[in-house]
Amino acid sequence: MYRSHTNGELRIEHVNQEVSLSGWVQKSRDLGGMTFVDLRDRYGITQLAFNEEINSSLSDSARKLGREFVIQIKGTVKERSSKNKNIATGEIEIEVTELIVLNESKTPPFTIEDKTDGGDELRMKYRYLDLRRNPVKENLMLRHKIGLATRNYMNNLDFLEIETPFLIKSTPEGARDFVVPSRMNEGQFYALPQSPQTFKQLLMVSGYDRYFQIVKCFRDEDLRADRQPEFTQIDCEMAFVEQEDILQTFEGLIQYLFSEVLKVTLPDVKRMTYVDAMKNYGSDKPDIRFDMKFKYLTELVKGKDFKIFDEAEEIIAINVEGGNKLTRKEIDKITDYVKTPQVGAKGLIYCRVNEDGTLKSSVDKFYNQDELAKWVSTCDSKPGDLIFLLSGDTIKAQSQMNDLRLHMGTMMELRDGKTFAPLWVLDFPLLEWDEDSNRFHAMHHPFTSPKKEDFDLLESDPGKVRANAYDLVINGVEIGGGSIRIHDRDIQSRMFDLLGFTKEEAEAQFGFLMSAFEYGAPPHGGIAFGFDRICSIFGGSESIRDYIAFPKNNSGRDVMIDAPANVDDAQLDELGLKLDISLEK
Ligand code: ASP
Repeated sequence: MYRSHTNGELRIEHVNQEVSLSGWVQKSRDLGGMTFVDLRDRYGITQLAFNEEINSSLSDSARKLGREFVIQIKGTVKERSSKNKNIATGEIEIEVTELIVLNESKTPPFTIEDKTDGGDELRMKYRYLDLRRNPVKENLMLRHKIGLATRNYMNNLDFLEIETPFLIKSTPEGARDFVVPSRMNEGQFYALPQSPQTFKQLLMVSGYDRYFQIVKCFRDEDLRADRQPEFTQIDCEMAFVEQEDILQTFEGLIQYLFSEVLKVTLPDVKRMTYVDAMKNYGSDKPDIRFDMKFKYLTELVKGKDFKIFDEAEEIIAINVEGGNKLTRKEIDKITDYVKTPQVGAKGLIYCRVNEDGTLKSSVDKFYNQDELAKWVSTCDSKPGDLIFLLSGDTIKAQSQMNDLRLHMGTMMELRDGKTFAPLWVLDFPLLEWDEDSNRFHAMHHPFTSPKKEDFDLLESDPGKVRANAYDLVINGVEIGGGSIRIHDRDIQSRMFDLLGFTKEEAEAQFGFLMSAFEYGAPPHGGIAFGFDRICSIFGGSESIRDYIAFPKNNSGRDVMIDAPANVDDAQLDELGLKLDISLEK
């Protein structure tokens, strides 16, 4: 038996027990007569004591132990003379009677400590060592807990977890597919699922009216900190439901996860239409932990000979409460920020609302105190506040103001990580015009149902049609999204028409789904949550990578196993993929 206990288990009540322990050497301290070794495993750290006077050869061996050696010991639990309140086993130590080195270790390339000296790249290359560190381990434990709580909640509501295949053909979620060549069908390819969308809908046709799955999805997109080429969703679908049923079921899930895992009571999930979200916050995922809503000053400020405003389509303002305390230098810095390429504004106008009621703007040449007073009343500003104005094309100005609003929210400390503000964004547009391809794209995916009351617009003004689609947003992060689906063959086929598919293309790609709709498809709808993202929100980190055991880097590489990699000619040949280099040239 390698161990009778783990290294996190022994307490004062175990004193005088004979135990055996196994684990890794965290560190050893040679204090002359006594040598102390911290023995670590997943569960904690236990101090081992070797007394030169009791057993000198054992002490000698202990002194030779290097960091990360794997050892097994036998010994007696003793009360420590100097106790360590910081660790659970801090009241005891083991007086070792037997030591076996199970495996030696090279000196690790970085320290296995909470605060390591290893850089990102190095830790990823030796991820198996990084995973020994507490913060990473705690993240994976959190992930496990969230997964388990999800399964509990879903199971209690009669949802069945059903696996769907990975080797499929394209599911349109708006990204590129990863493709896998088929050896048995030379020249043909599978696509890895961007989501199990079509399969979960087929399961509804089959009568599994409550389905879920914690499932890998694959999207070949450019990567950012919160994106991975393979990521995990909590994927869900229900039959015989309306939008309201789905909203209630899944705000229930999120509330359950918060209370089970974080012991936090989530406030009621607010609701907002897409149109209002764009108008008031310039974003379809507003952070509503703070107010700072957009005010439209377009009518008010035009016609005063200020060319920039006169030429703009829209002039938008926000009121920063208490913002008048910002120095000129700080405002200059904010101006530099909005001018960075990622925000893209040309400049920033401001108006200070001084404590004495006087107003001081950066465009005093064009606007007198009376005119500025109208800005103040439109923006509900109080003495001590600061108004910022951005102008330009409506869509651009909204998006720039969204960036500025979030920036100011952070600066004024209104985005506290311990406050959670959940929000349903509802009534998304069904379609989105794509300038490049000069046609409509599905904003969500092509299986999303238009709102009944907007059906007539499908022919006359498709861009105005709203969908039964919803996103769940927490603190400005979209954590889930879904829709009520089309379950009628004719409507589905009209949808493919609208999206510019020919009849043949639609049939070839999605004929199976449309056929299924002819055999008794129930009304249905669903949602999928970004599981990695929920983990990162719960853990309070920006990056989902911290919650994935073996993540890819920003170029989609696994630097530990060095993938992707070349395959040899024989393998390519077998797949019918061998490139004829001479022909290539
Ligand atoms: N399949 C969708 C997605 O991955 C979610 C849904 O509509 O249920 O975003």
